[in-house]
Amino acid sequence: MAFLDKLKQGLSKTKSAIFGQIDEVLKAFVRVDEDLLDELEELLIMSDVGVGATEEIIERLREAIKDGRLKEKEHVESALREILEEMIGEGEELDLSTTPAVILVIGVNGAGKTTSIGKISNRLVSKGKKVVVAAADTFRAAAIDQLAVWCERSGAELVRQNEGSDPAAVVFDAIAYAKRKSADVLIIDTAGRLHNKKNLMNELAKINRVIERELPEAARENLLVLDATTGQNAILQAKEFKNAAEITGLVLNKLDGTAKGGIVLSIKRELGIPVKFIGVGEKIDDMQEFDNKEFVQALFE
Ligand code: GDP
Ligand code: GDP
Ligand code: MG
Repeated sequence: MAFLDKLKQGLSKTKSAIFGQIDEVLKAFVRVDEDLLDELEELLIMSDVGVGATEEIIERLREAIKDGRLKEKEHVESALREILEEMIGEGEELDLSTTPAVILVIGVNGAGKTTSIGKISNRLVSKGKKVVVAAADTFRAAAIDQLAVWCERSGAELVRQNEGSDPAAVVFDAIAYAKRKSADVLIIDTAGRLHNKKNLMNELAKINRVIERELPEAARENLLVLDATTGQNAILQAKEFKNAAEITGLVLNKLDGTAKGGIVLSIKRELGIPVKFIGVGEKIDDMQEFDNKEFVQALFE
């Protein structure tokens, strides 16, 4: 199945909760006026679009009406689509400009870090990249085994130590291995971390020190993995992580099975961090680089 179709399917709950109802609202009105805007506002607020983002959307529509760009109700949808695309912002490519480049993957437990690493590795390997993965979530043996399965599926090489070993030591070994094998990309899996868990944040800092010492010139991505089903909570979580690490991009998972896909609309506005990947399922090809136009298209069509 083409990814756009998967995306449409994955976003179907979000669509029926919000965007599918926009048609109904439009049908109920003859003209584009304040009452119509009120209805739209209510619809957006009820979803996980967020209050701030909703206000901005409505204000932009109001301006378009005022200066005569938006007159017919038939044009409301296309005006809305344009606004949403702009608010969501374009996705950005990963910076993989050095050999190796380093992708550190962080986020709370269960957000989908390990699964995302499998999916991203698969995409990179299929583009001909040599990928090494570091199993730096050493809390549970099962976490290391789960990552090993994903590496086998994707064709990435795994560097692992025993359960309970020092994550920074795993990273050190993985860097040495990546250098020796001239790998293109080193991806590092980590344990779930919240900023208030001080020891875990210290661990992250220690991993960073090892990377900076061993690969000072490497292109770096710090990807924060978020679970879309948590809606606006994912935004709060991201703000906490932002205080603790320099996040270069977001991976937004589990857009399938949630009506809260509207959070994508407030992400750029609230966080100023680009969404780089979205996940719409548990399978290896259920992830793709984020494309704002495709995303909005999937919401409306
Ligand atoms: P981690 O603790 O952050 O490493 O999270 P995992 O990668 O282990 O994922 C936690 C659970 O979420 C697993 O059961 C995954 O299969 C599931 N999961 C991850 N991404 C997605 C997604 O995009 N859609 C769905 N439906 N499930 C997902
Ligand atoms: P520190 O632990 O705060 O002093 O930070 P360092 O940058 O000195 O080292 C961080 C971690 O990387 C260490 O705790 C080790 O686990 C690991 N490490 C550093 N050097 C080596 C090495 O030569 N071999 C291995 N296997 N691990 C190392
Ligand atoms: Mg994991």
